[in-house]
Amino acid sequence: MAGSRPAGGSAPAPLDASRLAELAARLKALRDRAEAALAHAKGELKGEDAELFRDLGQTGDWALAEAEFERDMAGAERARALLAAVQSSQRRMESGDYGSCEDCGDDIGYERLAAFPTASRCVACQSRRESPAGPGGR
Ligand SMILES: [Zn+2]
Repeated sequence: MAGSRPAGGSAPAPLDASRLAELAARLKALRDRAEAALAHAKGELKGEDAELFRDLGQTGDWALAEAEFERDMAGAERARALLAAVQSSQRRMESGDYGSCEDCGDDIGYERLAAFPTASRCVACQSRRESPAGPGGR
């Protein structure tokens, strides 16, 4: 922030130790959240609740029960995906690969990582992967 270095064109800002530490802390916070969400979603669907869903099906509130059920499942799915992404980012951080694009090896850049701590590709490679008609996009 206090540096008077001229911006070197389009090269992304490098990750120095303090930026890495900040991103590591954010990954850890994300991981805690994902684990809590996952535990919560799992807890909601165990034992008695499963019985409850069956009962509701017989009494005509099935649509409502199903909507609830699907919302929980979607939450669990998202939490699991987030957890996996965080874990792989943490592994890459340990091996020193964090911050480099998986596809082209370029620096992902601090700004992108600050916005998406789990990003594993640079903007160009990521947008190449996300085809406009790709599956699962919502
Ligand atoms: Zn790339």
